Amino acid sequence: MNAITEIETALGRLDAAIKAGSSDHRCLRHWSEFIRLRDGHRCVDCHSRRRLSAHHICRKTFLPEARFQTGNGITLCNRCHREAHKGFNGRPDLSSPMDAQNGEKLSYMERLYCILAQDAKARRLLRDDFYFLSDQVLAKFKLFQGFEWQTPFPGSRVEQAYLIWAQGSLKPAGRCARRTASPHTTDQFFRVRPSS
Ligand SMILES: [Zn+2]
Ligand SMILES: [Zn+2]
Repeated sequence: MNAITEIETALGRLDAAIKAGSSDHRCLRHWSEFIRLRDGHRCVDCHSRRRLSAHHICRKTFLPEARFQTGNGITLCNRCHREAHKGFNGRPDLSSPMDAQNGEKLSYMERLYCILAQDAKARRLLRDDFYFLSDQVLAKFKLFQGFEWQTPFPGSRVEQAYLIWAQGSLKPAGRCARRTASPHTTDQFFRVRPSS
């Protein structure tokens, strides 16, 4: 089986588990297996092959609908994974916005989407099913960064995610202005409690 076929097969197992209404635990196991296989069983950041795990770039408590989406996962080694979670001790405070308490490092998320898209391109794997983010999730990213949800971004879905996070942080003033103009949409999203 060549690499692409193997990745497609793993994706098929994930999709089948989701469609069959399998438990979250089971779906997450298939999701994690897919992410690590797609990323070539190495840390996408430092290329270490030791103590790997699949990390949710936007954490699943804030974005439960993206918890099985392939574009929200990246393989990280233990050290890089600790970095990704640093400054965020224990359980998330779901009543606070996403970037409160330095809990979620938005620039780090931007960086992870950047290296993920670059890795996909370099390894010729940049396909929207291998790096999937739904329209709804991309719309939420845009709202959070102060864009209208219909604002078009170029590229594949994971590239769009990177551009949304990157442009938001490049224009803090514009972002603040626009966020004030529509506080409800962004607040609703990042203060929402998961249905668990
Ligand atoms: Zn690493
Ligand atoms: Zn993680």
